[in-house]
Amino acid sequence: MNKSPAQRRAIVVGGSLGGLFAANLLLKQGWQVDVFERVPVELAGRGAGIVTHPELFDAMTAAGIAIDSSIGIQVSSRITLAQDGKLIMEGALPQTLTAWGKMYHALRAAIPDSNYHSGGNVVAVESLETHAAVTLAEGSRYEADVIIAADGFRSTIRQHFLPEVELKYAGYIAWRGLVQENLLSASTHKTLFDKFAFCLPPHEQILGYPVAGHSNSTQPGERRYNFVWYRTCDNEALKDLLTDASGKVFEGGIPPTFIREDVLATMYEAAHNLLAPQFAEVVTKAVEPLFQPIFDLEVPKMNFGRVALLGDAAFVARPHCGMGVTKAAGDARALVEALDSNETVEQALAEYSEVRCRFGTAVIQHARHLGAYMQAQLDDKQREMAELYRTPEAVMRETAAPFQL
Ligand SMILES: Cc1cc2nc3c(=O)[nH]c(=O)nc-3n(C[C@H](O)[C@H](O)[C@H](O)COP(=O)(O)OP(=O)(O)OC[C@H]3O[C@@H](n4cnc5c(N)ncnc54)[C@H](O)[C@@H]3O)c2cc1C
Repeated sequence: MNKSPAQRRAIVVGGSLGGLFAANLLLKQGWQVDVFERVPVELAGRGAGIVTHPELFDAMTAAGIAIDSSIGIQVSSRITLAQDGKLIMEGALPQTLTAWGKMYHALRAAIPDSNYHSGGNVVAVESLETHAAVTLAEGSRYEADVIIAADGFRSTIRQHFLPEVELKYAGYIAWRGLVQENLLSASTHKTLFDKFAFCLPPHEQILGYPVAGHSNSTQPGERRYNFVWYRTCDNEALKDLLTDASGKVFEGGIPPTFIREDVLATMYEAAHNLLAPQFAEVVTKAVEPLFQPIFDLEVPKMNFGRVALLGDAAFVARPHCGMGVTKAAGDARALVEALDSNETVEQALAEYSEVRCRFGTAVIQHARHLGAYMQAQLDDKQREMAELYRTPEAVMRETAAPFQL
């Protein structure tokens, strides 16, 4: 690019993990960077764990963030439990599991406070010949050479450029939650805690793994066990789950404290009736469980002149492949490399879009395959077929495992 690094200016919209990866990598290259994050207070994890992949650590290293063993918890194997709690199968698969808050704090701490603007709600974006600009809700306007839209799966900026692209509900939800390690019974702790574990009752799938504790501690005794429980839910049932006790419907996702008592009671009863007792214990002891409707989102392109989409703003894969954070980190790396090696911002973003759309599409496809069993549950015929292809071996081998394009 014609400008020297110190003259190059980027605006990152969204200060969650994707935005923080991009901001850190750009700062390291000498860019001036401003991050605008709509939420006025420090972000906090949504109560769930993060599966790491080697590419995630590569991106952290490239961003200059030191990684030591406290970044996560190592597990060496995967197990599947029967509904009665007996071990069906065990297989080796070493992996590091971390908590969202752990990643967030490592990435956020590397950005000076003067570059991170909490409460900055971007409402408009423009891409012009010589620069791009964003406008905040209170009316102020900021210009930069490039704008990176890391504003999540309901991205305002994506909706501006690609109004026709919609989130597609997959027909099932994931209940998620965390339980303190020291609240688990000794027998459940012994069977589950140091394992990536599964239980596959008919029509259901639950998995769990250990993550860092409250203050991001990975010390034994202070950690937590994280579960993700996939359950079929048609549109009507979903609307009911998203409705609070006063009758208000939270279309965009219901905060955990607003989930109705009867919804939680039904979920706990199902946990006792359907899951291995160890998993039932994890689910019923989790503090403020939450649920996430499962969506697919994909875009045909990620570049709009001087504006680039990144992370969940562009592609949302179902959680089965555990790739959300790693994909966002990979997008950030590819974007910064393209900006470094191309003459113009527009050329750089076009190259970035081509490479990362290929990756995003492949991840979405892979996650759809892994979720096909759950999606098939609403249809009798598809359910029979899906049952034929569901084995503990396949689920343990593919779920949240390393992914190659
Ligand atoms: C608070 C929080 C907690 C999470 N916890 C978990 C978890 O525990 N486990 C897990 O697997 N995944 C979690 N995720 C999701 C995970 O971070 C993402 O799927 C993945 O990392 C890709 O992130 P992203 O940065 O692309 O999008 P997101 O993480 O969704 O971040 C988008 C960010 O953009 C901000 N934003 C949106 N619109 C605007 C706007 N107009 N102007 C300015 N800012 C805007 C949002 O407030 C948000 O912080 C969490 C996300 C958030 C925001």
